Amino acid sequence: MAGFVQQLPRRHQVLLSTVAAATLIVLLLPSEQATASRNTSDPKLAEQQLILGERLEIPVAAKAAVTAQAQHTPALQPSVDTTAAAETVAVSEPVEPAVQWSGYKVKSGDSLARIFERMGYSPQELYKVTQDQQANKYFLKLRPGDTLRFAKDTNDELVQLAYQISPIDTLIVSKIDGSYQSEIDTKEVQVQEAFAYAEISSSFWNAGINAGLTENQIMSIASIFGWDIDFALDLRKGDEFSVIFEKEYVDGEFVGYGKVLAAEFVNQGERYQAILHEDGDYYALDGSAMRKSFLRSPVKFTYISSNFNPRRLHPVTGVVRPHNGTDYVAPVGTPIMSSGAGKVIASAYNNLNGHYVFIQHGERYVTKYLHLSKRLVKRGDKVKQGDIIGRLGSTGRVTGAHLHYEFLVDGVHRNPRNVELPEAESLNAQQLPAFKKIAEQRLAMLENNRRTYLAMN
Ligand SMILES: [Zn+2]
Repeated sequence: MAGFVQQLPRRHQVLLSTVAAATLIVLLLPSEQATASRNTSDPKLAEQQLILGERLEIPVAAKAAVTAQAQHTPALQPSVDTTAAAETVAVSEPVEPAVQWSGYKVKSGDSLARIFERMGYSPQELYKVTQDQQANKYFLKLRPGDTLRFAKDTNDELVQLAYQISPIDTLIVSKIDGSYQSEIDTKEVQVQEAFAYAEISSSFWNAGINAGLTENQIMSIASIFGWDIDFALDLRKGDEFSVIFEKEYVDGEFVGYGKVLAAEFVNQGERYQAILHEDGDYYALDGSAMRKSFLRSPVKFTYISSNFNPRRLHPVTGVVRPHNGTDYVAPVGTPIMSSGAGKVIASAYNNLNGHYVFIQHGERYVTKYLHLSKRLVKRGDKVKQGDIIGRLGSTGRVTGAHLHYEFLVDGVHRNPRNVELPEAESLNAQQLPAFKKIAEQRLAMLENNRRTYLAMN
């Protein structure tokens, strides 16, 4: 079961080459550039091409300033914002044509000192370059495969050093009056919006992969709805979700995925919608926060071997969800999170519960975590939502490893998976009108794209 998590990167690669996913995006983004859509099928390749292309373009001594106004082109229907993209290119005359550039690809075992030596620069130059704190900070991140570019003048002295930190950012260290100064050259990122839809047939994870989503995007969706839906236990065949997310381009080349802008999840017939607000949090259309005081599940769904099983019986007793708690079956050692912020009121061991932790949340709520293999908090500790308080185990009276989780309101056991939870702060009357306007547009986009997708499939 531990292997499940480790397999993720490989599945991720499978996703990236999924032709079907790329086709879908192309069809729904008619205005997208051909180069961009070509690369969506393999962002890794796109990245390489970008580096190659970028190497040719890097300003030698001529200082080329290219500014492209960040464009936000909602390529999806309906088009809500038709901000025109303005692009201005200003190129100044070369000042020192005698500068000569050469590149160095970092190998494993390299140090900056060795690289400087190989490139024919003196220890004094290395010393001076590393006097710049910012440059030093980034040089610590040098990894095999990274490329450094050196520019020397006619006296073979280092005048500029460029290190591409990411497709967007390049560290540039320049010699100015005998010492070196660094700056980060940041390229403009164009953002486009894309859509994905999936119906769950085997698992949430697989559905996400098949829809062309990345690992991070799948986790984002789970965390957006993680206060409403227990992704570990409550997903069913036929559940569906759709999502609008950002794709980022530099010079027309795909460089990565941005934020999830809006998402909808239908779980067992119940529809949840979330829209990103400018404060970085997600809200429902009425402005109520998706974030709640408690997570539905104290176990991340990725640790549960099967996200759902229509014939799931209680894993320990063979009965469907008996007694006062909920049981999560996952490998021993799985991290257990505090579902809400609070104070540890018990952290102990007995024959029945095994290692257990109880947490008090405000006046009314208590959560209990039983059968742990390890406790990571002690009585009196304060915990935040999502803090790891222990590890799943099989201590106490159990027949197999699992977490037994209880949720009490005013001392009464409640089902944590459908109990009404206190919300985080909702949007106020001032924030609401602007939010609603965007939210309605995004939800309409979701709906239109979902319909188009379903009509085509
Ligand atoms: Zn139990």
